[in-house]
Amino acid sequence: MTGIPYSCQTIEDADVDAVIATLRSPFLTQGPAIEAFEKAFGEAHQIAECVAVSNATAALHIACLALGVGPGDIVWTTPNSFVASANCARYCGASVDFVDIDPVTRNMSVVGLKAKLEVARDGGKLPKVVIPVDFAGLPCDMKAIRDLADTFGFKIIEDASHAVGAVLDGHPVGSRHVDIAVFSFHAVKIITTAEGGMCATQDPEVAAKLRLLRSHGITRNPEEMVNESEGPWYYEQIGLGYNYRVTDLQAALGLSQLKRLPQLYARREALARRYDELLADFPFILPSREAISQSAHHLYVIEIDERASNVDRRTAFEALRGMGIGVNVHYMPIHQQPDYRALGFKPGDFPASERYYARAITIPLYPTMTEDQQDRVVEALKQTFGL
Ligand SMILES: *Cc1c(COP(=O)(O)O)cnc(C)c1O
Repeated sequence: MTGIPYSCQTIEDADVDAVIATLRSPFLTQGPAIEAFEKAFGEAHQIAECVAVSNATAALHIACLALGVGPGDIVWTTPNSFVASANCARYCGASVDFVDIDPVTRNMSVVGLKAKLEVARDGGKLPKVVIPVDFAGLPCDMKAIRDLADTFGFKIIEDASHAVGAVLDGHPVGSRHVDIAVFSFHAVKIITTAEGGMCATQDPEVAAKLRLLRSHGITRNPEEMVNESEGPWYYEQIGLGYNYRVTDLQAALGLSQLKRLPQLYARREALARRYDELLADFPFILPSREAISQSAHHLYVIEIDERASNVDRRTAFEALRGMGIGVNVHYMPIHQQPDYRALGFKPGDFPASERYYARAITIPLYPTMTEDQQDRVVEALKQTFGL
């Protein structure tokens, strides 16, 4: 009996053909596939400007820079995320703080955000940027966060790394309320380019900054240049940027994957709904479904309800792994990482995230998962919890 992974990419012949066609073309990097992928991604998410980069961590970094984050600034995010959501601010010399989660959605608490903003305003230490994360693919209540942004004067970077294709209030995630939305195409995410990320914004000026930052701060656009062009070879570096470019090979894969997004999404939704039904009577807290949104179901996380079960997380986790079920945990709260403790954060700072973490197990969910495989996961859970 082979193991069932917690996540798995979906690669079909069309993906392989697309990459091979690019490999045989004149362009391996910076060719037509990148622009085509950016355009198609923007159309799918109804976002005017998309800037593809080497990974979502790079996307978060240049998103912060494009919004002016620098030394002395403060950036807030959620503890319940991958470390990249917080590290990006530190790359810019800014400091990081966190807003605890809402235990139901597992996303940054809007009530908590408002309360913390009021305290910060009184202390004269408001954040320049807030980075809410659409955890597991469930969109944050971005309209409410936008209202707070307008009141308190911060910008919003939506870390939508988990949420490609998710919907909020009838609109694609990232298309409204936020300054920049960031998506990841790492192999475990909803669609993949192996490694890859996207900055998406409705603001052409922000997009122009992102494009400069992606490639060394270099422009070939005469309108952006400081001096007169000296000839057809001429380019200028007008700021400090990076090499965060993605290749045409990756973009070709992304474009091919994007064409199947509706099917991938439908399959995740069907499997998630099946878990909802099959696990309804287990001693678990299941992912919430919100009336205003549609999750991308990047992850399916169960929390063990300790009032209903005396099997603890570690015991359950080890038993499941022993049965070949590729469970995982998302996430140890960022502030608990040694590198963040060294900055002064300590256990107890964000109790809802810590309590969530202590009980959470991510169970397998990916589009090629069969119902038989899903039944095996449910059977293993039954055995583990003595049901
Ligand atoms: C995966 C992930 C990232 C980083 O993405 P990479 O493309 O691997 O750099 C950032 N934030 C969240 C929430 C993620 O899950």
